[in-house]
Amino acid sequence: MALIIDGRKISAQIKEECKEQVAAYQARGIEICLAVVQVGSDPASSVYVNNKKKACAYVGIRSLSYELDETVTEEELLQLVDRLNNDPAVNGILVQLPLPAHIDENKIIRAISPMKDVDGFHPYNVGALSIGLKGFVSCTPAGVIQLLKRSGIEIAGKNCVVIGRSNIVGKPMSMLLLRENGTVTVTHSRTKDLQEITSKADILIAALGKPKFITKEYVKEGAVVIDVGIHRNAENKLCGDVDFEDVKEKVSAITPVPGGVGVMTIAMLMCNCVASVEINERA
Ligand code: NAP
Repeated sequence: MALIIDGRKISAQIKEECKEQVAAYQARGIEICLAVVQVGSDPASSVYVNNKKKACAYVGIRSLSYELDETVTEEELLQLVDRLNNDPAVNGILVQLPLPAHIDENKIIRAISPMKDVDGFHPYNVGALSIGLKGFVSCTPAGVIQLLKRSGIEIAGKNCVVIGRSNIVGKPMSMLLLRENGTVTVTHSRTKDLQEITSKADILIAALGKPKFITKEYVKEGAVVIDVGIHRNAENKLCGDVDFEDVKEKVSAITPVPGGVGVMTIAMLMCNCVASVEINERA
C-alpha cells in the first residue's frame, strides 16, 4: 500500500512554523512585508494572488497589493519595481506571471532586486542555487524537497529523474535534488525513450504539463512519484501529469492532485518571505 504524501498537512505545518518565526520577528519590532503586483485581471492569476495574500495574513506578514491595468506600460511597471526595490519597508516583491504580451517578463524579473526576489526567478538566485550559495529558491521545487524530507524519504544516492526542464520547475528541481546528493537525470520533449529512463527512477518527478501522461509503464516498482502537474479536466476536476489510479499500486509513495505539490507552493513562498529579512541585510 503506497504512502499518499499529504501536501495539505505538510504545508499547514510549514505555515505554522512561519507564523512562529514571524511572531518572533514581531517581538523584536521587525515587520515582514510582501509587495504583490498583478497586471490585468486574469481570473486564474487573481485566484493565485488572493491565496498568497490570505496566506500572508494567516502567518502575520503584511501584504501590499498593486493591481495595475492591463494597459500599463513596461516602463511604468519597471518604475513601480524600482520604487519597491528602494523601499526599506518592503522585504519581498512578487510580480504575478504571466504578464501581458507587450511586457517583457524577463526584463521585469531582472529588474526585481535579487535580495527581494521571493519567487527565486532572478538570474542571480538561479545562479546562486547552481553554485550552492544561499538565496531565494523557486517555491514549487522547494516544496517538493520538503514533501520528500518531511515524509522521511531519503534523496542522497537515489536515482532521481525529473521530467521537464522549465526555468520555474524542472531546472531548479534538478539542482535541488543534486544539492541533496541525488543522482539526477533531466528529461524533456526531445528525450529519446523516456520510459526506459523513468522506469529506472527511485524518485520520479513529473513536471511535463501533460494530463495523466505517466502511467504504470513509466514507473519502477516501489518508486516514489511526485506529481507537479495541475490540469482541469472536462468535468472541471483537477488532475496531474500522473495517472494516479493506474500508478498508485506500483509505487511506495505518491503525491495526489489536488493535495500534493500544489498546496506547497504558497507555504514555501511564506518561508521565502521569512527568509527575506536576513537576505535583505546582504543587499
Ligand atoms: P512548461 O514550461 O510547459 O515545461 C514543460 C516541460 O516538460 C518542458 O521542459 C518540456 O520539454 C517537457 N515536456 C513536455 N512534453 C514532454 C514529453 N512528452 N516528454 C518529456 N518531456 C516533456 O511547464 P512548467 O511550468 O514546468 O509546469 C509543468 C507542470 O507543472 C504544469 O502542469 C503546470 O501547471 C504545473 N505547475 C504546478 C505548480 C504548482 O504546483 N504550484 C507550479 C508550476 C507549474 P521542452 O523543454 O523540450 O519543451
